[in-house]
Amino acid sequence: MKKRILVTGGAGFIGSHLCKRLLAENNRVICLDNFFTGNKTNISPFLSNPDFQLIEHDITVPFEVEVDEIYNLACPASPIHYQYDPVKTIKASVLGANNVLELAQRTKAKVLQASTSEVYGDPIIHPQQENYWGNVNPIGLRSCYDEGKRCAETLFMDFHRYYGVNIKIIRIFNTYGPNMQKHDGRVISNFIVQALQGRDITIYGVGGQTRSFQYISDLLDGMIKMMATESSFTGPINLGNPCEITITDIAKTILKLTGSQSQLIHAALPPDDPAQRRPDISLAKTKLNWEPHISLEEGLKETIAYFRTIL
Ligand code: NAD
Ligand code: UDP
Repeated sequence: MKKRILVTGGAGFIGSHLCKRLLAENNRVICLDNFFTGNKTNISPFLSNPDFQLIEHDITVPFEVEVDEIYNLACPASPIHYQYDPVKTIKASVLGANNVLELAQRTKAKVLQASTSEVYGDPIIHPQQENYWGNVNPIGLRSCYDEGKRCAETLFMDFHRYYGVNIKIIRIFNTYGPNMQKHDGRVISNFIVQALQGRDITIYGVGGQTRSFQYISDLLDGMIKMMATESSFTGPINLGNPCEITITDIAKTILKLTGSQSQLIHAALPPDDPAQRRPDISLAKTKLNWEPHISLEEGLKETIAYFRTIL
């Protein structure tokens, strides 16, 4: 009997890759999305597959469906998108979490929450371990996302402790790859599009801030392994590539790989932009026997090739 797996946010960047992988692994996939940042072309290859079902729906509104597993990804993820309507963003995280958890409680499904490294805020402890509680501004421009995701983690843990729901929490660090939107606003897509179009590369601030970028296929491996862990293991668990790089160096790497003549220019640093970020992945290594395999250069080459086809 095939598993019935719900992917909320399944038409987005990560969600569409996850739907593809789960279908390839012989599951039935139900994709729920309101297409706020998701894209119909991301899922169009699956629409004719009898094992794939699309539900156009807003996760903040309760819904019913019979499922065995749920991956909860529905939430805008890029700063320009999640700040576009911050009230809607925090509702997507908090009401969305409540709705998938009530569904999991009723159907006895396992439910995995796509949380984020943003729960660590602008971290003082470096690299970030899961037991670090973070340094988050509760009233800033990023708070609708950061605090929404933190509250969702709380709901997940409370549904687990009080109602026995089988939950998993992953904290995803910056992830990139094909299917990112060209106007998504995130650094990798911005820089590649700017480089390929010969436009200036916009470094926010002086460019010394760091991030650690993981390629999409590595993340998918970790997500699926996490879902398969024993019910006593809930996480949270970091999934990211510990290879840390400054934003200036990522710009230079993308210039080199695209052969672009674009100039590096500086623009204002957004408020509360974290100065550094790198996951400690010891827990994922031990519990999931997982670590990333795709180097930054390999992953960027794939992503650049994708953007060349769509631009
Ligand atoms: P994305 O914006 O491409 O995908 C999000 C999807 O959720 C979109 O298809 C969007 O239409 C859908 N969505 C948004 N609000 C919704 C709502 N109210 N109801 C139904 N659907 C809704 O972003 P992504 O990068 O694929 O991120 C997916 C998840 O992973 C998000 O929850 C995000 O917070 C988390 N995450 C991503 C990263 C990353 O680097 N990409 C890092 C940390 C966490
Ligand atoms: N950034 C940048 N230029 C851009 C887009 C982003 O310098 O055109 C910087 C941004 O200020 C941040 C880093 O790149 O320091 C990562 O930004 P992104 O929005 O991709 O992810 P997040 O800040 O959520 O980790």
